[in-house]
Formats: sequence, structure tokens, C-alpha cells
Amino acid sequence: MLIVANWKAYVEDLARAKKLVALGKKLARADKVSVVLAPPAPLLSVLSIGRKTGVAFAAQDISATAGGAYTGEGTAQAFAAAGATYALVGHSERRAAGDTDAVVAEKLARALAQDLVPVLCVGEKERDGEGRYLARIREEIVTALEPLELRERARVIIAYEPLWAIGKDASAAISANDLAEMTLYIRKVLAELLSGRNAGRTTVLYGGAVEPENIRGLAADAGVDGFLIGHASADPAVFAAFAKNLAA
Ligand code: PEP
Repeated sequence: MLIVANWKAYVEDLARAKKLVALGKKLARADKVSVVLAPPAPLLSVLSIGRKTGVAFAAQDISATAGGAYTGEGTAQAFAAAGATYALVGHSERRAAGDTDAVVAEKLARALAQDLVPVLCVGEKERDGEGRYLARIREEIVTALEPLELRERARVIIAYEPLWAIGKDASAAISANDLAEMTLYIRKVLAELLSGRNAGRTTVLYGGAVEPENIRGLAADAGVDGFLIGHASADPAVFAAFAKNLAA
């Protein structure tokens, strides 16, 4: 299982960041769990994890540009130099700040060009009775992956994150049944974009209101390969409970 911890801007000081790194290492000692931590960029650049810990770092976002006269931008190359090996791309909070599907596709290409494993975030704002939300998920995946070569497409991790669940508590998370349906749908879309044996191999994550109390149920019944966790990954006391619950 892959756990990606998106600290967003919740974590602002080094002491808390170091505590969370230590907890990430502890979580990665659970059977078959790998952990990716996504700290704010300035903290990522001063944290270290050491070798063979089962923990890696991700950029929360990367620039759509390569290097140059772009004040304030963090390029994929700069993140890789700071120790990131993954990059979130197309997070709903970045889309809300202006990232279109086209910008997301550019960022994906930048990440891959620097050997960062992209975690492509997709998700609908709301669910309608006619299934239009499925068309939106399809559009987000297709516009991002279609411009890539087949071998690049196979490197992308998909994080399904319905916007209506993000930031809420466990009671607002998707049900395991609905998530299982969506996971199947995402794999069907991927099968159209990937060749033969790669189609079933893509890592698919779920994010949105995942907390220590609902992670085991979702992990057991929903067919996902792991989770993208926001608020619950940025509070040391809560993050520690994931390790306890997954080990239990
Ligand atoms: C997210 O925004 O990526 C996320 C998963 O948030 P939360 O866990 O806080 O719902």
C-alpha cells in the first residue's frame, strides 16, 4: 500500500516536520506500506530521510515552466535537486488556483522529464444522477495522459480525490462500494490509454477525508492501491494513529 501524505500549508515549522518524517518512517515499517511525504517546498529542501526507509519526498506542485525568468516558480528540476522523487500534479487546490487541464498536462511532462513519479489528481466537484461526473474523470485522465508516450503513461500514479470529500472528516468520505466502482471505471479508462500488461498495473489512490478510523475499511474493500491523505497526515498525533491502525 502506498500512503502519500500531503501536508499542504498545515506544516510551517521544522520541529513538526521532523516529527512527521519520523512518524512516516514508523508507518513505512508496517507490512507492505510505502510512504511518500509532500512537505511545503522550503521544508522539503531542509529535511532528509536517509536510505532504505521506505519513505520518499514529493513536491506538492511543480511549475509548468522549465528554468528561467519566472519569479516564485519551483521547477521539477529544482525539486528533484532538493530530494523529491514524486510530484503531485493537478491537485484540486491548484486547479482552483488556475491550473487548467492543459497546464496539468504540461506539469506532468515536466515531472516525467526529471524522473519524478507524477501523482495525477483527478476528481469531480459533485455527483449528478446522470453520470456526468464520470465523463469529467475521464476527461481529466485522457487530457493528461494522451500527449505522453506509452512508457511515460505507465509511470503515472492516479489519485482519485472527489472535491466534495476533501478536507472533511471520515464521515464524509466516499463509501467503499462507490470507491470500488470508481476504481474499476478509472482502470477501464486507463486500459484505453495503456498497452496490454501495463493497463492493470497503474497505482490508483483515493484521497478525501481519509482518517485513521476509515482507512482499513477502504483499503480492504475498495480496490485501491493506497491513499492520498491531507489534513490527517499533517497532525503528528493523528498521523501516528495510521501506523497503529494499519499495524493492528
Ligand atoms: C487532499 O486535499 O489531497 C486531501 C486528501 O485532503 P484531506 O485528506 O484533508 O481530505
